Amino acid sequence: AAASSGGLIAYADSGSDAAVEKPQLPPRKKVVVLGTGWGGTTFLRNLDSRLYDVQVISPRNYFAFTPLLPSVTSGTVEPRSIVEPIRRILEKKGGEIKFWEAECFKIDPQSKKIHCRSNVGTNLEGNGEFSVDYDYLVIAVGARTNTFNTPGVVENCHFLKEVEDAQKIRRSVMDCFERASLPFLNEEERKKNLHFVVVGGGPTGVEFASSLHDFVTEDLSKLYPSIQHLVKISLIEAADHILTMFDKRITNFAEDKFGRDGIDVKTGYKVVKVSKDAITMQNPATGDISVPYGMAVWSTGIGTRPFVVEFMKQIGQANRRVLATDEWLRVRECDGVYAIGDCATINQRKVMEDISEIFRVADKDKSGTLTVKEIQDILDDIYVRYPQVQLYLKSKQMNGIADLVRSAKGDAEKESMELNIAEFKKALALVDSQVKFLPATAQVASQQGQYLARCFNKMKDAEENPEGPIRIRGEGRHRFLPFRYRHLGQFAPLGGEQTAAQLPGDWISIGHSTQWLWYSVYATKQISWHTRMLVVSDWTRRFIFGRDSSC
Ligand code: FAD
Ligand code: MG
Ligand code: MG
Ligand code: MG
Ligand code: MG
Repeated sequence: AAASSGGLIAYADSGSDAAVEKPQLPPRKKVVVLGTGWGGTTFLRNLDSRLYDVQVISPRNYFAFTPLLPSVTSGTVEPRSIVEPIRRILEKKGGEIKFWEAECFKIDPQSKKIHCRSNVGTNLEGNGEFSVDYDYLVIAVGARTNTFNTPGVVENCHFLKEVEDAQKIRRSVMDCFERASLPFLNEEERKKNLHFVVVGGGPTGVEFASSLHDFVTEDLSKLYPSIQHLVKISLIEAADHILTMFDKRITNFAEDKFGRDGIDVKTGYKVVKVSKDAITMQNPATGDISVPYGMAVWSTGIGTRPFVVEFMKQIGQANRRVLATDEWLRVRECDGVYAIGDCATINQRKVMEDISEIFRVADKDKSGTLTVKEIQDILDDIYVRYPQVQLYLKSKQMNGIADLVRSAKGDAEKESMELNIAEFKKALALVDSQVKFLPATAQVASQQGQYLARCFNKMKDAEENPEGPIRIRGEGRHRFLPFRYRHLGQFAPLGGEQTAAQLPGDWISIGHSTQWLWYSVYATKQISWHTRMLVVSDWTRRFIFGRDSSC
């Protein structure tokens, strides 16, 4: 006879051995995921979907491998090689997760409901609208392109965010070449049609400009020999340099290489207006200049989606630019709502907000002062909860907290090494200046998706052990550590089979061998063997036959 375990499996009648009933599971909590990009997909792939009733909502029924979008614009890689149907990803999870192809247009955190609209079908009311209840909501809707309200951008520029955008750009490049070839155009008009303008000198703009340059010099020049000398590519950047998020060596190399390639890099220019025929930019020295162009790609700035802006107003974040979460990726003051990836930013807790609490916890002997040892004892916890402390010590080339204490005590060092609260505050006064915002990258979004899925997989433990203002070692069983981003490095493909890479530890590598590293990393990062094979065969085809210019 079996005794009741009190756990998930209960035996109805301990007397009879035939009376084993089906386990009585409590109803599973509803998890709703918005978005099937880097954040949402990584979350879903790592979630133990047996624990929850999961529904996914996205206007796109596929995941797109965005780092290869610039390659699609030049036909190096085919569009279908970089997308993976979301239903295929979900099928691998046992087919329990539901997917609705729709767009969320409103979140109602009070009644824990979201409102959606299908773009493929309509209901009885004829509008395709429906609502979905949630216990937990994961917002992973990414960002939209920000035009900074520059007139004419939406009407006249291409963006490079989605697979369709990349396809449109490719077609538009070909149109420009065909138009420039027409018999009735004069030289000026041919030049105008063959002037390609890229706005934004970040990684995407730079990669697009260089892949367009390769496409033109390696493939199109053979097909359009009589007009190839009229082609011009301009890269416009408002800051003083391109690729400012990279090491100076990479920026310099890129600017030099573009100079040699004949790509006109215009730094210090701000685009203020785009009309059908000309793009107007501003520079303090030259004033406004207008240049005719054939095609323009706007590749700068990210903005918040309108329904997220509405949601932020509802929850008291109206004055913020981006939806804020805490370090556990929870939207503050909003029960059960999480946000990851480009649509959100982590609001790192400041040391100064908790300074008295930290002092109290550290002062184990209640002496009212802290010894170096007392601080040392909780240092690991401080580092976990407030990573800016470690960054600060590193930036000041200090070897540990003792150095910081010494710097706060100044000359009185010999007298005593104990700090009172005022001195402790003074010692840490500047550390919060080191709080860093994470970049809007696939790397961040996917690490957040993975982190959050792991938290969800252990949620029961977490609910029993909410975190305190600082984590105190040895206390609690499964207290989650805050999300911590691990930077694995970043590539900047520069064309001509050359790539620059900035890897952790400020390791810089530039050139042809780095391009091979790029190939292998992006082949490895593919979400399935299917897309991996397609991408590698696209690359191989390109090496043998060149790029496909038919479209
Ligand atoms: P996304 O991946 O944009 O996903 C958002 C999802 O939400 C999409 O599925 C979308 O359809 C869906 N959605 C939108 N609106 C709604 C709605 N109302 N309701 C429901 N769902 C909605 N990062 C790197 O780390 N390395 C690179 O090399 C790199 N290269 C890039 C190249 C290009 C051309 C671009 C555009 C981006 C690149 N990035 C790169 C950045 C990276 O793509 C983003 O940081 C990443 O996609 C962010 O992931 P996310 O999940 O937050 O958003
Ligand atoms: Mg997403
Ligand atoms: Mg994506
Ligand atoms: Mg973010
Ligand atoms: Mg003490």
